[in-house]
Amino acid sequence: MKVAVFGSQTYDRRFLDEANARRETPHEFVYFEARLRSRTAPLAAGFPAVCIFVNDEADAETLKILAQNGTKLIALRCAGFNNLDLQTAAELGMTVVRVPAYSPYAVAEHTVGLILTLNRKIHKAYNRVREDNFTLSGLLGFDLNGSTVGIVGTGKIGLIFAQIMHGFGCHLLGYDAYPNDEFKKIGDSRYVDLPELFANSDIISLHCPLLPETHHIINEGAIAQMKKGVMLINTSRGPLVDTEAVIRGIKSGTIGYLGIDVYEQEDQFFFEDWSEEIIQDDTFQLLQSFPNVIITGHQAFFTKNALTAIAETTVCNIADFAAGKELKNAVKLPH
Ligand code: NAD
Repeated sequence: MKVAVFGSQTYDRRFLDEANARRETPHEFVYFEARLRSRTAPLAAGFPAVCIFVNDEADAETLKILAQNGTKLIALRCAGFNNLDLQTAAELGMTVVRVPAYSPYAVAEHTVGLILTLNRKIHKAYNRVREDNFTLSGLLGFDLNGSTVGIVGTGKIGLIFAQIMHGFGCHLLGYDAYPNDEFKKIGDSRYVDLPELFANSDIISLHCPLLPETHHIINEGAIAQMKKGVMLINTSRGPLVDTEAVIRGIKSGTIGYLGIDVYEQEDQFFFEDWSEEIIQDDTFQLLQSFPNVIITGHQAFFTKNALTAIAETTVCNIADFAAGKELKNAVKLPH
């Protein structure tokens, strides 16, 4: 099948080509660096399948252009589908598939990496020692052992993150719209409502999907309920957090540490080299300027294991569609 791959980087090409080469009947992948937008959608004219990632934009206008030009399948090479207008896709008779799980370990482990870096200030220590400065002031951390970790969303990633933090000896508080037994089984773990989680956690980590009901789940009101000096971690989706409210929380001292791999307006510049440009997003630049903030550029998923799994599933999803098979990874409108 002929597939237009949008927003593609060298690593996407490498892993998709490797997975494709393992197939008896390989697909024909054509790679575009451009992200999918209404203005780039015409590039996919004549392609029955389009493959997109988190910061491509499959809104109604874009989907209509794709459909007019013969696209029938949208293959998301990610788990989340908040960047796709599912209603319009259904109305246009387009099929949508995704990669529901690739490596939850990748994201959970990166989350722990952010926590350790923020707490023990490893990024600052690294630079200090390189300059032969072996002083310790300013590097003071706290034991994770015995601290309370609040986990919002205890699905695949949240659960593994909970297991890792249990290994550190943390007390676990979970909140989930659909609680599961696996979380309760971990030990020293219990489900609570959000106000209780906010009020009692030393570290709060977000692992729920971006939905209308979770948009800005961390807002002014939520921050007001948190412990002074709380560590807030978001490796899920940027708009879960009201960035302006978080900045006020950092300035007031309520938020003592912030670690984010995702940002509300990340689609403007993440996954691109902006090092020679002037970034116009003052909110992002202000956030970067705080000493207790660490930002990574949506790399939590970025392990060899995850990219191999993403490519395998994507290639299979497309093959199943081409063969008219039942699609186990189809994304459908809720009934
Ligand atoms: P999952 O579907 O297995 O788990 C999500 C959990 O959130 C489920 O238990 C679900 O019941 C819960 N949930 C749903 N609505 C909720 C609500 N209103 N409040 C609280 N919890 C709610 O998904 P996952 O694989 O664990 O992924 C979690 C999120 O991580 C994804 O939605 C995605 O946004 C993000 N993610 C980020 C990266 C990255 O590289 N940074 C990579 C993959 C996934």
